Amino acid sequence: MKFDFVIMGAGIIGLTIAYKLKQKDKSFKIAIIDKESEAGLHASGRNSGVLHAGFYYTADSLKAKFTRQGNQALKDYCHQHGIPMCNNGKLVVAKNENDLPGLFELEKRGAHNKVNISLIDEKEAHDIEPKARTFQWALYSPTTSTVDPKLVCQQLTKDLKAQGVRFFFKAPYVKRTINNGILAGTTEIFGKNYINTAGLYADKIARDFGVGKKYRILPFKGVYLESTDPGVGLRTNIYPVPNLNNPFLGVHFTVTPTGKVKIGPTAIPAFWRENYQGLDGFKPSEFFEIILTQMKLFKENSLNFRGLAFEEMRKFNSRYLKKLASKLIRDMDLCSFNHWGKPGIRAQLLEIETLSLVQDFVVEKEENSIHVLNAVSPAFTCSFPFAEWVIEQYVEA
Ligand SMILES: Cc1cc2nc3c(=O)[nH]c(=O)nc-3n(C[C@H](O)[C@H](O)[C@H](O)COP(=O)(O)OP(=O)(O)OC[C@H]3O[C@@H](n4cnc5c(N)ncnc54)[C@H](O)[C@@H]3O)c2cc1C
Repeated sequence: MKFDFVIMGAGIIGLTIAYKLKQKDKSFKIAIIDKESEAGLHASGRNSGVLHAGFYYTADSLKAKFTRQGNQALKDYCHQHGIPMCNNGKLVVAKNENDLPGLFELEKRGAHNKVNISLIDEKEAHDIEPKARTFQWALYSPTTSTVDPKLVCQQLTKDLKAQGVRFFFKAPYVKRTINNGILAGTTEIFGKNYINTAGLYADKIARDFGVGKKYRILPFKGVYLESTDPGVGLRTNIYPVPNLNNPFLGVHFTVTPTGKVKIGPTAIPAFWRENYQGLDGFKPSEFFEIILTQMKLFKENSLNFRGLAFEEMRKFNSRYLKKLASKLIRDMDLCSFNHWGKPGIRAQLLEIETLSLVQDFVVEKEENSIHVLNAVSPAFTCSFPFAEWVIEQYVEA
């Protein structure tokens, strides 16, 4: 079977790249392979579903370049296909005086990235969300929204099938073949171009093509606590001021389009790539490789990994997680938050030599293959313009 493009991974990045390729030229023959039985079963269907506004990221980053545009593009797509959204904005609140410099820095970044955001005082914050608690100032982002990310992946799959894109599910990438094809499960598939969008396994596939050798993916698990009380209403999403030295946003409150309120996600170091629950997805070789890397980080205390690991592990305790969340709110009882939701795992890229976590998206190319590495948050939000950019930059006309 021969295609113009073979995309490896049916998450949001693989799907939107196929979508944008078809927009560029509808005669392109495209195949998407995935090891699972449907699209969006990993990060793309297990995230918070937040369409970020774009004020967290430094102006020189790809994240800054695509978030504001991506937010609008996904809203347009959802609107066009009747996918429910919750256009409820977001408050970033300060716990105390120490949070204020970080809050002001976010405002500055937002202005730089041309994001609609305003610095408001305590009273204005309470008018927006009476249950939010802040110290002196807060940031308000009216363009932040939430969607069900699984519905977006399902709709894209439907659209792509209708445009003739061939999906090969339960077809894991196994290896390159001597005929310049790839083995997907037991089927040999040929592409003029290969695009690797395999999320948690993107570094492994990239290495097979001889690229991305200086990186390794380190999985971080995000768990959520959900409220079982449908009456727990929040008007808006509430976030803390994050530690700007690491890529995670801190434990926050998200309101889904169905009105469900979630606390999370955490960023707990995971012990293997698909370490969702119990021994699911356990692979001894991955376990040893990841544990060794984590031990190195722990020993050298790179990225303050020791502090991060201890702090994050504590968040497996629901009482501790609720205690952290309670610092963002007032007059709200958290006792109904007693259900652990579906966890997600971040495919965070580590630069092996410097032991540093890569903050921005990374794309590498060799001959006829393109590899998307580090498609971490907010890659879901960025997906449409990011996909367009990958094609412009890396696909030969
Ligand atoms: C807990 C959490 C919360 C997040 N919250 C947000 C948010 O609110 N907003 C936001 O914008 N972003 C968020 N993100 C980030 C976002 O989910 C990801 O950036 C995005 O989903 C990455 O998409 P992807 O297509 O690269 O990866 P994935 O969705 O992981 O897709 C990769 C695909 O590759 C397939 N695959 C893997 N290995 C193979 C193989 N060997 N052969 C064939 N197929 C393979 C997998 O089955 C999978 O379908 C969050 C992420 C997490 C984990």
